[in-house]
Amino acid sequence: MQFDDKAGLDPSQVRDVRRGGGGFGGGGFGGGGRGAAVKGGGLLALVVALLGAFFGVGPSNLGFNDATPDPGPRATDTADLAGECRTGADANNKLDCRVVAITNSLQSYWSDEFQKRGGTYKDANTVIYSRAISTGCGNATSAVGPFYCPADMNVYLDLSFFNELQSRFGARGGPFAQAYVIAHEYGHHVQNLTGVFARIGPNTGQGTASNAVRLELQADCYAGVWARNAMTTPDKTTGRPLITNLTEDDIRDGLDAAAAVGDDRIQEMATGYVNPESWTHGSSAQRQQWFAQGLKTGDMNRCDTFR
Ligand SMILES: [Zn+2]
Repeated sequence: MQFDDKAGLDPSQVRDVRRGGGGFGGGGFGGGGRGAAVKGGGLLALVVALLGAFFGVGPSNLGFNDATPDPGPRATDTADLAGECRTGADANNKLDCRVVAITNSLQSYWSDEFQKRGGTYKDANTVIYSRAISTGCGNATSAVGPFYCPADMNVYLDLSFFNELQSRFGARGGPFAQAYVIAHEYGHHVQNLTGVFARIGPNTGQGTASNAVRLELQADCYAGVWARNAMTTPDKTTGRPLITNLTEDDIRDGLDAAAAVGDDRIQEMATGYVNPESWTHGSSAQRQQWFAQGLKTGDMNRCDTFR
């Protein structure tokens, strides 16, 4: 995945609260982070974290209330996105800036698409946090994985998840795998704006035919729709596409990441068996299939997972 080196980025769409100075009253809320949560809660917490909220919508109350004191901001988190992420070249070189560029590309695409359809897109923010965060949907730790909060329209992301995607979930990783993760969350934002959440209501259930699974697969499909259009969507500032190249290898990385976070594979890994009745996100095959469907068609109308 290659960004136009000369393209300007819009870092205002991404908030970095890793140093605790962001707009959330000091950033984290004093949780002990994933390591402590898993150690403290044992296997159950791990399984719940893996199965319950992964890539989810809003942090569920998962009971991670460990009392380990927050060691405070880390000296290494000195990213200043506005200063460091100015161009596509920065996005090609630095993970934080890549998150900015992917967010910019996603919102350029979706705002165009909404406009074409006579709707109005509202920008979301990607919030990069570390370990714990207070959100419009409640408190969360990075144990829940990346998530979208409909109440404050933010996508929350702890960048360490991208390492886990490889080390814990066995994905190949790579920039486009990261893009898939972010694009999936923005898929939930699109669902929020189109009224899908409101139509379905808060009780999405679980199991292969549940609304929970249908919502997740639709978000995967929307991620594919964006990816298909990313190289032809003009950037707001330059008028040229921000993403200039997606290779077959990139696409494979994305499909591989979609498979890595399938409910069946995660269940098999965590518990040794597969229980489709408790699925909330869909199987590896389903997630790949719907992501591919979006990639192939580039058309959100072809993402009706509720039919
Ligand atoms: Zn999701």
